[in-house]
Amino acid sequence: RASTYQYSEQAPTSSDNLKVIVRVRPINDRERGLGGHKCIQQSSSQSLKVLTSDAQYFTFDAIAGEATDQEGVFEVAGRPIVENCLAGYNSCIFAYGQTGSGKTYTMSGPSGAEGLHERQGLIPRVFDHLFSRIAKMQTRQVSCKCSFLEIYNENITDLLSPSEAHLQIREDAARGTYVENLCEEEVSSVDDVARLLARGQAARRVGETNMNRESSRSHSVFTCTLQSSTTDESGITNILRSRLNLVDLAGSERQKSSGAAGERLREASSINKSLSSLGLVIMSLVDVQRGAQRHVPYRDSRLTYLLQDSLGGNSKTIMVANISPASANLAETISTLRFAQRAK
Ligand code: ADP
Ligand code: MG
Repeated sequence: RASTYQYSEQAPTSSDNLKVIVRVRPINDRERGLGGHKCIQQSSSQSLKVLTSDAQYFTFDAIAGEATDQEGVFEVAGRPIVENCLAGYNSCIFAYGQTGSGKTYTMSGPSGAEGLHERQGLIPRVFDHLFSRIAKMQTRQVSCKCSFLEIYNENITDLLSPSEAHLQIREDAARGTYVENLCEEEVSSVDDVARLLARGQAARRVGETNMNRESSRSHSVFTCTLQSSTTDESGITNILRSRLNLVDLAGSERQKSSGAAGERLREASSINKSLSSLGLVIMSLVDVQRGAQRHVPYRDSRLTYLLQDSLGGNSKTIMVANISPASANLAETISTLRFAQRAK
């Protein structure tokens, strides 16, 4: 006999279900070369001072300043999420920010430097910790399956099987929300995960902007489904299921409509749609958390519909808002900080 518990029911949330962390990357040579100066100062462990004509302060759950390394980000954003997930809660980590602000660095690490262990991002670190926790478990059997997809122009493509485009989201009582025909692979080591990541990254569609040659106009979602079972003395098996979603969002910079035509214009509005929809869902959840009766518009975009079971309710969400400290990016930085602030 098996009984299954899923933690996706809409239960009252506690305030630590959503955490917002701002990560400031170091200024780079190009920005210094432009004669720029730093316009961001950390004023405490939780607040930032933005140097505009009149200084503005922003407060979050945590600030990962320029000196915070990948391990430090893992400690605030990764380790707690692994524990939540092992306890059966669905979880999401989002990397938000303009192109070039450090989203991919935060989630995966520097591109083409997989060997540099100390610069590995959240995803490899999360799985490293997860597998070491699983290895120590005596009475629980844990299986771990991963999928990797991309949302581009509101279309879902399977990055592990790129010929599968235009995938559809389905919903049923047993599985909750899921993507139909999405490839899922069993993983049992960090190397297995690294192979899947590399395979998926190679398939990622990359666009070009002035900011960064490898900039991406798509959202990528790496999902791990954990199933753990224990059997008690009377022979009853308890199964615990949870999902962990690691999301590298498309650049949040405002797309200029002048000069953009056809495909690019459609792209711009799709990117903004998923991002603004994510912002709206998170803001609605914050209201619900404070006791308001509110409709949460999950179905307004693919991204939020896909993550419906992992946003709100008992789920845990961590938003890492990435910013550049350079004055040249001030307008986008303030827009990112405002987005992140609304989630508080
Ligand atoms: P995004 O994914 O937001 O477009 P990237 O993660 O690609 O941005 O970062 C842009 C560049 O800055 C990359 O060369 C990356 O290695 C570098 N970078 C980003 N964040 C950091 C950081 N915290 N420390 C050092 N280099 C960083
Ligand atoms: Mg990127």
